[in-house]
Amino acid sequence: MNTLSSPATVAQDATHVFHRQLRHGLPVAVSGQGMTLTDASGKTYLDACGGAAVSCLGHGHPEVRAAMHAQIDRLTYAHTSFFTTGVAEELADLLIDTAPAGMSHVYFVSGGSEAVEAALKMARQYFVEIGQPQRRHFIARRQSYHGNTLGALAVGGNAWRREQFQPLLIDVTHVAPCYEYRDRRADESAEQYGQRLVAELSEAIERLGPQNVMAFVAETVGGATAGVLTAVPGYFKGVRELCDRHGILLILDEVMCGMGRTGTLHACEQEGVVPDLMTIAKGLGGGYQPIGAVLAQGRVVGAFRQGSGLFQHGHTYLGHAVACAAALAVQRVIQRDGLLAQVRERGAALQALLQQAFAGHPQVGDIRGRGLFWGLELVAERGSKRWFDPALRLHARVKSEAMAGGLMVYPMGGTVDGRCGDHILLAPPFIASEADLGEIVERLRAALDRAVAGCGAAALA
Ligand code: PMP
Repeated sequence: MNTLSSPATVAQDATHVFHRQLRHGLPVAVSGQGMTLTDASGKTYLDACGGAAVSCLGHGHPEVRAAMHAQIDRLTYAHTSFFTTGVAEELADLLIDTAPAGMSHVYFVSGGSEAVEAALKMARQYFVEIGQPQRRHFIARRQSYHGNTLGALAVGGNAWRREQFQPLLIDVTHVAPCYEYRDRRADESAEQYGQRLVAELSEAIERLGPQNVMAFVAETVGGATAGVLTAVPGYFKGVRELCDRHGILLILDEVMCGMGRTGTLHACEQEGVVPDLMTIAKGLGGGYQPIGAVLAQGRVVGAFRQGSGLFQHGHTYLGHAVACAAALAVQRVIQRDGLLAQVRERGAALQALLQQAFAGHPQVGDIRGRGLFWGLELVAERGSKRWFDPALRLHARVKSEAMAGGLMVYPMGGTVDGRCGDHILLAPPFIASEADLGEIVERLRAALDRAVAGCGAAALA
């Protein structure tokens, strides 16, 4: 297809791109500026989700573009088994300067799934290096998402995404996520609920034999499966203690919730815990380039240094110079412009707007989030918390109604008994003004009402 003369929408029978969705056409994005993307017809879309919580600085930021241009003019690519680059070193310095205590090194990759794969293999090799090769089990959580490559999919707990690939996945033990809205019992406090979950993890460790477990893997704040699952107080502290007691690594996946999204640079800061390995991506490069990373504790890296001296892993584009330059520029703008404080302040404004618009809405069961990371859990009936029939694909209807109304929101849905349900995720750029947030909530409200009406009255009965 010639995009210069492109129609606004590309039909599925007129494309050679193997799009993920093979039945529906897609609008053709042609430009992006600040909070909005524009398609080939000139229609604009207010970006309320940064794609998938990616575009933290919005689109077309002049300083990030300039940094990328300057790097392109100097050097675009030097393979990491031959060279390091100044820009990769500078970015690693910045990330370690701002990282939780004890983090000493950064392993650069090209995205979130690669970061998770690298962290899993780092955990395995760490135990080989320290003479505990019998450790071969990962424990992770249901209702979680860690990426679509086979290792990341195996630790993930999204039934719908895993189903058909099950025979190819390594065996991982899954425990309950922290899902207060559905799982906290009426007779227990939030803290007691958290302790119950930690006890369940403890039982899983005992069943496998603590000496056989490599790591517990969790999103600090769940994202792409169940619409922003925040932990109850004390939960992650309990998890950390348990891991320490048994010499098990704690891998926190902050690919989506990290890099400022929840109002602190790392979401784990709000839990008062420090992981052994932490994955980051999306907001690291803000969508200007594909980049992700694993942050590793000095103790872990030390084992590699004293042992074989080589991490048996790698990809062609590790630490790509233009990707590092983009991420460095994004992170410097966030620091210089005080955007973390802005995320907290605008986050509070967004929370208030969401409460106003949806606290009494019959199809919104729960509104939860932190910073500029919010999820709405959609239900057919609030009292029973009954989900819509997944065949109605309410989440997808909300997305398409929102797009029709010039708004991008991130939908999640599917399964139901194996969990997931319909959720809408909001992750607007950190630069969103209060007026933008008001517009987002207004358009979302209209899209949700149209989508629910489209399901018909029977869906609610
Ligand atoms: N981990 C988490 C927590 C994520 O949200 C995602 C992406 N939604 C991934 C990993 C995978 O990242 P990517 O799509 O960049 O491979």
